[in-house]
Amino acid sequence: MAKTAFVDFKAVKAAITMEQVLQHYGLLEKFKRGTDSLNGPCPIHKGSNPTQFRVSISKNIWNCFSECKHGGNVLDFIAEMEKCSIHAAALKAIAWFKLDPEAMAAKNGNSESGETERPAPKAPVKPASSPKPAPAPSPESSVPNAPLKFRLDKLERSHPYLLEQRGLTPETIVDFGIGFCAKGMMADRIAIPIHNAKGEVVAYAGRFPGDAGDDTPKYKMPPGFRKSQELFNLDRACKEPADQPLVIVEGFFDAMKLHQHGCRKVVALMGSTMSAAQEELIRQHTNSQSHVIVMLDENEAGQAGREDIACRLSRFCFVRVHQFDQPDMEPEHLTPEEVQQLIGGVL
Ligand SMILES: [Zn+2]
Repeated sequence: MAKTAFVDFKAVKAAITMEQVLQHYGLLEKFKRGTDSLNGPCPIHKGSNPTQFRVSISKNIWNCFSECKHGGNVLDFIAEMEKCSIHAAALKAIAWFKLDPEAMAAKNGNSESGETERPAPKAPVKPASSPKPAPAPSPESSVPNAPLKFRLDKLERSHPYLLEQRGLTPETIVDFGIGFCAKGMMADRIAIPIHNAKGEVVAYAGRFPGDAGDDTPKYKMPPGFRKSQELFNLDRACKEPADQPLVIVEGFFDAMKLHQHGCRKVVALMGSTMSAAQEELIRQHTNSQSHVIVMLDENEAGQAGREDIACRLSRFCFVRVHQFDQPDMEPEHLTPEEVQQLIGGVL
């Protein structure tokens, strides 16, 4: 099989059931069957409560109400179990359930079109004819981070890390709802709420306020949260005028700082790469007339990331890649004047 084979995720999702997947993992006997559900302990976070993980049989989706606090479709489940991408999960599903990879290959841009002869078929193994639950094309299934049911309150807004070290104004701090968290999951960290495109809080990221030591991660993310499904600040950036360029940066603080300098149409990838889900979010919020500025950090990761991102986004909008003159420069370090010049000069 070609390494970069295009896989039609929808077809794979429709061809297998959660029940089959649980059986594959030898987990089915641990689950209790309801009228339209399978209930059991969560295999992803390896919980023990027998009602924390529920599969909807008719919708063919799952949800963990405990630690993971999210759910998804069959491929999301395999990806969580195998700690792999959705693409890799689809390839695994094809192999495990002996799906017909040709039938599963997306028609567009498939490089296997030159192949004329199929290997002589053994026993037909297409599962497509057996009765299957209707695939649930619920828009929720592609955005699996569930909105949080709580808020971190009593955050300390005037923490010196934010005002002095990061140079944020009290307005920006309040605008983004960030602050120092004294206790709980993000104790002793700066809590940064992450919203989905609809503006619902789906997670808090925790930034260590200062130079973290080797054994302290700079950022802490809640277990189960998938940052690859979100773009930081997208919920607000998408309300800005359509004729303004969308600026794509790496970090939370890049986005907040640009916002402070008047560049409000800015989103952060929360890393130096763009996931397929993030690409799709950008596609949904742009059109062929839209301008995008890719402004990653001027280091090795940023340089590699921006090449790939520019190439992928240029298929559906105008893309400009910003390069800084000095190495290790980051958007966060731009002056208000430089920011104005950058976004003003694009159109
Ligand atoms: Zn779980």
